[in-house]
Amino acid sequence: RQGTVVITGASSGLGLATAKALAETGKWHVIMACRDFLKTERAAKSVGMAKEDYSIMHLDLASLDSVRQFVDNFQRSGRPLDVLVCNAAVYFPTAKEPTYTADGFELSVGTNHLGHFLLSRLLLVDLNKSDYPSKRLVIVGSITGNTNTLAGNVPPKANLGDMRGLAAGLNGLNTSSMIDGGEFDGAKAYKDSKVCNMLTMQEFHRRYHEDTGITFTSLYPGCIATTGLFREHISLFRTLFPPFQKYITKGYVSEEEAGTHCENFFCFRGSGATSVISITTIKLSESCSRDVAFLILLQAIASCIKT
Ligand code: NDP
Repeated sequence: RQGTVVITGASSGLGLATAKALAETGKWHVIMACRDFLKTERAAKSVGMAKEDYSIMHLDLASLDSVRQFVDNFQRSGRPLDVLVCNAAVYFPTAKEPTYTADGFELSVGTNHLGHFLLSRLLLVDLNKSDYPSKRLVIVGSITGNTNTLAGNVPPKANLGDMRGLAAGLNGLNTSSMIDGGEFDGAKAYKDSKVCNMLTMQEFHRRYHEDTGITFTSLYPGCIATTGLFREHISLFRTLFPPFQKYITKGYVSEEEAGTHCENFFCFRGSGATSVISITTIKLSESCSRDVAFLILLQAIASCIKT
């Protein structure tokens, strides 16, 4: 049968390129889980996706009510869930002050991590029911969260610390809006959120893979220096970053190429896996072993989200 894949943030960039690449195989029905219906419809048309190959369902990851509503709508649709791709993200490298989700969490960690965490937890039951041979839950990670890569060593570095900010609600009221309790830094908040994404997949795999057969992974798509992710950056950065990645670091990939990598990866074909970083390379701060960190992370999330 045709597989069903849900992709968050499929209205642009990597999400759109992946949706297109999967739809073109004819083997997938793509559910584009997006916050802007009209933009997504236009985007799907602009890349030539055929109407019968996709559906658009509303999802705003910056609102936990919206996440629950999306899951409810998806479950009512009667479709099976074979692959969930958590791709959407926001990045505020130049923000001087934090902004917040509908539930009052710092916006980048709230969207990239907490929204996806709740979505993944709620949809686990659907993935579990799928009879698809390679059912999987994929989160798009980033090497900027790995301190053993060059990009991960560009300050500010990701660091979850003892997660006192997350445990206190990440709301900037009682304490800081940063996971580690430090001063707000938009670039670091993004990197921290990606560490949480990768860590979550690693722990989900350890906890649930054997019983459910679901493969939990995070992948790095390469540096797609032209996407909307960098829209908040200063214009000089936006001009110089693509040629820098193309000709100096040689880490650049086009949106189309990155989408094809992901499509290969989900279908277990081709060389897409070469662009996948090992999530075991994540380094946390020295005071925090990974298991202890995950336990604290779960407790902190539990105090933030009532599932
Ligand atoms: P884009 O900005 O092009 O895409 C981000 C997508 O996320 C958009 O569709 C956006 O929707 C959506 N989104 C943002 N906020 C929300 C929300 N609250 N609810 C639902 N959807 C939301 O960036 P990319 O394609 O570059 O990024 C895709 C993924 O790739 C991200 O996880 C990013 O961290 C990762 N990545 C990207 C790299 C790169 O070089 N570009 C490198 C490494 C990882 P809308 O259209 O409405 O704004």
